[in-house]
Amino acid sequence: MARAARERSEQERATRLVVDCVRLDAGSVDHIEVNDQCILDEPGIQGALVVDGVVHLEVVVRAAGGSLVADGRVVGVWAAECRRCLEDVRGPLEASLHEVFEWEATEGETWPISDHRIDLAPAAREAAVLALPLAPLCSEDCAGPVPDRFPTGPAAVDYTAGGGV
Ligand SMILES: [Zn+2]
Repeated sequence: MARAARERSEQERATRLVVDCVRLDAGSVDHIEVNDQCILDEPGIQGALVVDGVVHLEVVVRAAGGSLVADGRVVGVWAAECRRCLEDVRGPLEASLHEVFEWEATEGETWPISDHRIDLAPAAREAAVLALPLAPLCSEDCAGPVPDRFPTGPAAVDYTAGGGV
């Protein structure tokens, strides 16, 4: 798969969060606590992202039959543009994480176990990105950049017609 240089550098910066679960599979422990952070690959969606791509995970991994279940939460900080005034807005990001890892993973449903190891980073990314705000506001009563000319309500305003800053 060919990738642009920019994408490659972002990918190199992204980290994995690999948990060795051999002791779980062997039954010598009944859970593994993970309290760590990772840098997400592609940490944003249209108009919003996880600041620096960094999330912190507080997760417990347990064996469940032949699979492994990771339960916990992902926290970070999101940044986005206010949908009315386009100022930067930031807020706390918190997402619950409940994911199943299997030796024979089902695409889109479960994550793979490889050599008794699981990588929590892709699951953390999915949880974090789903928790990003879709239409953030700097405040509930944000009046937009030029309230006299463009009285804003919840409906979107076409700023492209109003010229630059
Ligand atoms: Zn605003």
